[in-house]
Amino acid sequence: MSETGSRHTAVPRLTVTDDNDFFFSAAKEGRLEIQRCADCKTLRHPPAPACPECRSFSWDTVESTRRCTLHSFTVIHHPKDPAFEYPLAVGLVDLEEGTRLVADIAGIDHEELEFGMELEVAFSEHAHGEMLPQLRRRGSVQ
Ligand SMILES: [Zn+2]
Repeated sequence: MSETGSRHTAVPRLTVTDDNDFFFSAAKEGRLEIQRCADCKTLRHPPAPACPECRSFSWDTVESTRRCTLHSFTVIHHPKDPAFEYPLAVGLVDLEEGTRLVADIAGIDHEELEFGMELEVAFSEHAHGEMLPQLRRRGSVQ
């Protein structure tokens, strides 16, 4: 990201906490980790302190296969932020493990996007140098 882009972006910096540090640390290494309740084994995303099913505060993580299908998407034209290129496609995907994730979509013509298409989670550098999930066509990620 250019200096100009990050100077004028309205994108907030990450707020890293004890509950989500695992997610962003794994992303820096190209891994997608999902939080799992250590008691009832329910997966949850985004990361949170307590399990929504059994209220347990004990958790660990599992590594995702990064395979997913497109549940829904939108193409954003406005307002424009210098940290992104427009029109910007943003997708909601169902991960193979069962949780959902929101991320921008890269490398696919927007006219080709359709519900249920097979995608894969990769990572790209965002406005402040952080690595965040990005959705790409499955099989296109090395
Ligand atoms: Zn639980």
